[in-house]
Amino acid sequence: MSPVAPSEYPPPFESSDVIGRPTDPEDDRIEVGVAIVGGGPAGLACANKVMQLLEDEPELTEKLGEVPVAVVEKGKVPGAHLLSGANMRPSAMQELFPDLDPSEWPVYQEVTKDAVYFLTSKAAFPVKPMPPNFRNHGNYVTSVSKLGRFLADKAEEAGVYILPETSADKLLVEDRVVRGVRSGDRGRGKNGEELGNFEPGNDLIARATVLAEGTLGHLSYAAMDHFDLHGADPQRWELGVKEVWEVKEPLDRVIHTLGWPLRWSGKYAEAGGSFIYPMGEDKICIGLVVGLDYTDATFSCHDALQLMKTHPFVKKLIDGGKRVAWGAKTIPSGGYWSMPKRLSVPGMVMAGDNAGMVNIAELKGVHYAMHAGMYAAEAIVDALKQDSVNFEAYDEKVHNSVIEKDIYRSRNMRQPLSKGLIAGGIFGSMMVATKGAFPGGHWKNEDDAEVGMKLGKAADKYPEPDNELTFNKLDSVFLSGNATRDDAPNHIRVQTRVPKEIAQTWVSMCPAQVYEIPEEQLESGDAEVDVHITASNCVQCGAITAKGGRLTLPEGGDGPLYQEV
Ligand SMILES: Cc1cc2nc3c(=O)[nH]c(=O)nc-3n(C[C@H](O)[C@H](O)[C@H](O)COP(=O)(O)OP(=O)(O)OC[C@H]3O[C@@H](n4cnc5c(N)ncnc54)[C@H](O)[C@@H]3O)c2cc1C
Ligand code: SF4
Repeated sequence: MSPVAPSEYPPPFESSDVIGRPTDPEDDRIEVGVAIVGGGPAGLACANKVMQLLEDEPELTEKLGEVPVAVVEKGKVPGAHLLSGANMRPSAMQELFPDLDPSEWPVYQEVTKDAVYFLTSKAAFPVKPMPPNFRNHGNYVTSVSKLGRFLADKAEEAGVYILPETSADKLLVEDRVVRGVRSGDRGRGKNGEELGNFEPGNDLIARATVLAEGTLGHLSYAAMDHFDLHGADPQRWELGVKEVWEVKEPLDRVIHTLGWPLRWSGKYAEAGGSFIYPMGEDKICIGLVVGLDYTDATFSCHDALQLMKTHPFVKKLIDGGKRVAWGAKTIPSGGYWSMPKRLSVPGMVMAGDNAGMVNIAELKGVHYAMHAGMYAAEAIVDALKQDSVNFEAYDEKVHNSVIEKDIYRSRNMRQPLSKGLIAGGIFGSMMVATKGAFPGGHWKNEDDAEVGMKLGKAADKYPEPDNELTFNKLDSVFLSGNATRDDAPNHIRVQTRVPKEIAQTWVSMCPAQVYEIPEEQLESGDAEVDVHITASNCVQCGAITAKGGRLTLPEGGDGPLYQEV
């Protein structure tokens, strides 16, 4: 059978559905100075920085009114939807809080030792010398959900108004100027009907709107369509699944692995690797990150991670321990060529993962997101002082910063990895060694949804869950603290009658068991099957948007409640 691409079955969704003019009567509109969508590293660094800058700007503070800065966050609390490695470069924390000692940051430890291993199914070989992109000395291991709570507390202390459990559902645009966002309705039933506790959303009108929605930002991608901001290449993503384990023996180093359980051959395009980080004396985290351009419809990142834990080298690290947290999220990996061509339009800027600010060669994004948030704050405060909503100075700041410099250096590094581990490894090493000079030119990023999918054999090797070392998806979702109402409207947009290859891709890819093919259709041999959706399992990792569907915004407060991933 010939491969089928998910992009041939686009989701029933139009960007124009989420862009519109304010609709509340003038008196009912909520007015704020700066509206920040997303309480992640980018949004919260921006919020803190705006407040710091306003300390020297009494006139502007007065003009911005009672709520100078509001952060709209869809998670139940700040940090609830944040997941990362997270091996963090310290530069942004140092810049944002120059008076805080690292011992006061929400981190587990400074990285003093690191190692990279190449795994076969039975053995682990140290990779020496250590590839420079894996060197992490001087970085700090944190939990980004804890970091989010910390940054939100600091922001609130400084006077920022944080609106948790609130999704920004619509971008408000008038005469091509962004005027703010509209929050989503609450209390709708499965068919969109108003329940007893129904509350309509509100227009939040702002002088400046910062979209800091993270990976696959819903409004950000709609804004890129509306204002024609897409970069030279399409964005591409990796999916990461992560677990936190309480362990008997502390881990003394940061570990990355390459190779098994991912298949080496270019025909599978299973590009990625694992991260295993110490989290203090009694915990470690272990995660697997895989590019969403793989070709086998039966590949599952969740189950590949379960398989990886059965490897003697990995098993030894968690033996006798207990899994205490789990989560999944995508990471943009297109790098320089996929970044939006402009980061600002009148009234609005984009910062962080939604603008592709990730250096995937080093698996780093937290500090870039925070630096971008701070640059956005500076540009916005400068412009608002002059009653202007032209934030182009922000584009310039990012352009001349470490963000663009680093991401440019690894601009052609992700692309060859889709050609298999050996070819990708050779090109990747040359690129690292020459600081980006080789291979030169522009290596194009493919759209993940345009990759043809085949029914292969990846799933044959996945272990049966034993509930000690290996687990099924539903147990994993339970551990994420997911609390989405069963009777909430379906927020996943996909076609529900598609070729088996596409349906199986979604079933296997989704780490939260949202999609199912009815048993009898699986056996039937029919080319097309139905896709059943249990949207309440969704942990909002974003992968479906990369692979032919669209994750829209569920009601604020739904989704995972990450504490320490
Ligand atoms: C598995 C994995 C491992 C990683 N490892 C590392 C690492 O070791 N080191 C590193 O530096 N980086 C790492 N990264 C990347 C890093 O986590 C991201 O670059 C960083 O978190 C981006 O920050 P952000 O603020 O842009 O977005 P996010 O952290 O995604 O935050 C966005 C926030 O916006 C909220 N939001 C989104 N849309 C809306 C909306 N419309 N309304 C309301 N709220 C909204 C979300 O709920 C979320 O809280 C990793 C990422 C993953 C997934
Ligand atoms: S349904 Fe939710 S959890 Fe599943 S792949 Fe899509 S976004 Fe991720």
